[in-house]
Amino acid sequence: MGTERGWLWWPVCGMLACLVYVGLPDGRVSAVLSAVVGFASLVLLVAGVRRKAAAHRGPWWIFAAGLVAWVAGDEIYAYQAIVGGAHPYPSWADAAYLGAYPLFVVAIFRLTRERRLRELAAVIDTAMIATGLGLVYWLFVIGPIVRDDTMPALVRAVTAAYPTAGVLLFAVVGPLLIRPGRRSPSVWLLTLGSTAALAGNLGYTLLPGVDPLLDRAVFGAFLFSYCCFAGAALHPSGDDPVVRRPPPHDGWQRIAMLTASTLLVPAVLFAEAQRGTEHVDIEAIGVGAVILFALMLARLSGFFATVQRQSDQLEQLAMADELTGLANRRLFEQDLAVALRDGLVQVAVLDLNGFKEINDTFGHATGDQLLTVVAQRLREAVRDDDVVARMGGDEFAVLVREVSPAAMSAIAERISASLRCPAGANGQQLLVSASVGTAGNETGEEIDTDEMLRRADAAMYAAKRAGGGRHLRYTADLDAQATVRARAGAELRAALEAGQFHLVYQPIVELPAGRIVSVEALVRWTHPERGFVSPAEFVPIAEDTGLIVELGEWILRQACAQAVTWFAEYGAAAPQRISVNVSARQLAEPGFAGLVAAVLAETGLRPEQLVVELTETAVFDGGQALRTVEALHRRGVRIALDDFGTGHSSLTLLQTVPVDVLKVDKSFVDKVTMAGRHAVIATALIQVSDGLGLQAVAEGVETPEQADELYRLGYRLAQGYHFGKPVRQPDFVPDAVYSARP
Ligand code: C2E
Ligand code: MG
Ligand code: MG
Repeated sequence: MGTERGWLWWPVCGMLACLVYVGLPDGRVSAVLSAVVGFASLVLLVAGVRRKAAAHRGPWWIFAAGLVAWVAGDEIYAYQAIVGGAHPYPSWADAAYLGAYPLFVVAIFRLTRERRLRELAAVIDTAMIATGLGLVYWLFVIGPIVRDDTMPALVRAVTAAYPTAGVLLFAVVGPLLIRPGRRSPSVWLLTLGSTAALAGNLGYTLLPGVDPLLDRAVFGAFLFSYCCFAGAALHPSGDDPVVRRPPPHDGWQRIAMLTASTLLVPAVLFAEAQRGTEHVDIEAIGVGAVILFALMLARLSGFFATVQRQSDQLEQLAMADELTGLANRRLFEQDLAVALRDGLVQVAVLDLNGFKEINDTFGHATGDQLLTVVAQRLREAVRDDDVVARMGGDEFAVLVREVSPAAMSAIAERISASLRCPAGANGQQLLVSASVGTAGNETGEEIDTDEMLRRADAAMYAAKRAGGGRHLRYTADLDAQATVRARAGAELRAALEAGQFHLVYQPIVELPAGRIVSVEALVRWTHPERGFVSPAEFVPIAEDTGLIVELGEWILRQACAQAVTWFAEYGAAAPQRISVNVSARQLAEPGFAGLVAAVLAETGLRPEQLVVELTETAVFDGGQALRTVEALHRRGVRIALDDFGTGHSSLTLLQTVPVDVLKVDKSFVDKVTMAGRHAVIATALIQVSDGLGLQAVAEGVETPEQADELYRLGYRLAQGYHFGKPVRQPDFVPDAVYSARP
């Protein structure tokens, strides 16, 4: 018999054998059958236990010991009946039977216990059931036996021991019966077997000698329990037959059972009063009530401790940032409110620069790790009692009590410095920097949490605008500037809607003849009151407020449409290309390349007829801006680096950015006619440009001498007032005379 299926096989066979046993008359045949069932169960049980992992065998061996005692009891009983022809009472068989109960109780308890945490609760529950039930048994079954002087003491003791053992068994089987949740087959068989044994015990103690058939049924029930126990040990799940996922709280069944146990005391009193018994065992009821009460208290205190622990954990969770373990915004604001009430407070708010790029480029896992590293550095940069919080995203805040603004600035510097070392995240060495804004309540004004954070934020944004990993302290000026900016932003939007912008076009000519080959679109704002406003003034504001995205889209569409109109109108005389200036903010928009494609499709301009002019700083940081430029270049749009030579890494950029055109800055053109070393850069740049196969455009050419000199140096394209100012409609007529001398 393969033990794999044997676990079910044997209980089923055993059940049939037990039914046969109940039907047989008391005698040799039934004794043999009982012995076969008993010994076979024992052998199978031991076989099952030996197949288990060593760590799980302990309680099963106890179980086996109990079964050995029971089978031994059976054999002694049978031997006495067959050899002696009588059943002496009490006998060694009773000793064996009774001795097995504690073993079974311990083994069942250990085999079916829940997780360790709940073990104490389980013990208390078992004790409560045992006490309640024991009290009833004592009053109605055991007490009368013990008090019955007509019986010898040993008989009384053994007779009382059976119901006592039954109570103990019930205390472990009861919770098993009502337990919610999934049970393994092993637990099912344990439950079934111990229920059968319990039924046998109840029949034996409560209904002694009522009917011979009942007596046989009692023994049959015990026999059946042997088979179930063997099956439980044989099932592979019996390795660790604990119910896998106990419910997180007590089920209603358990609560009902405990309630019933406690209510037994008043119920007993009530029943006794009804019966009008003259001997009421007040001591027993009193002791039972006290024990139950104490157990209930113990259970409740455990319950309250659990509730307290869980609510503490919940509060912790609600106040901590999940990723970094720092305080979260809520806790920070709470602490800040308290600190503001108590005295001097300094707050720093910091925001990582370029974090979004890192996230986009290396993925969120790396981003998350970087945030963790930053959190740690912040923690290390301040004292333990300072509050460090993650306010959300890549924004952090630090709260320091009782320090001067100067000290806070020093702290902010320290923080910035600590962030400047490369951070290892997911195998990448990343450079981070943060813009830090600080604010405090040292002025003595009444400042609330929101205002404090707003001020630190304002300073942080100003620091960010100023660029790099800077630190700025809040001043009222910042608010004034912000107001001006906000007003200007609103004004720009209104201007866009009111159609106050228009474009002008400045020729880019071929040297030496001066033929227009291209035009650069430049935006103009005519304010109804202020008149002409320079783009140098409003473009930065538009970038700041983000309005440049909308304005830039309008400019792009307008310029492309204009170019197409000119092609239609002037044919071969029309400029071959149109240049449009694009700011960093526009390039940083992930949708920009798509927008350009859409506008080209809409207007019918070919990609190679469009030149996008960008400044070195826009693409210096790489990231989305660089990806946008690469996408545009792939589509065939030409890329020009504007004001070339004024940035701090012009030449490096030529290796990373796909460039077609270098627009050599006006400052180098201005000096080209001066003697000596001044012309060196203009000379060098044309060589670089030629060497790399790029086109160079000399910007800001104002005099014929400059044009001549540039031509002599090798420049073939130029732009400047000398050839034409930016106007709404340049003159494209072929022989218009803008000429540099040959
Ligand atoms: P930029 O792209 O370098 O444009 C060239 C600027 O130099 C223009 O000034 C132009 O009028 C001026 N300029 C051209 N030739 C000469 C010259 O011979 N002498 C002098 N002194 N100046 C000359 P503008 O139009 O005031 O534009 C200034 C800056 O504003 C532009 O510099 C560009 O960065 C920005 N800008 C202008 N239009 C737009 C636009 O449509 N979008 C964006 N994003 N920025 C624009
Ligand atoms: Mg330009
Ligand atoms: Mg320029």
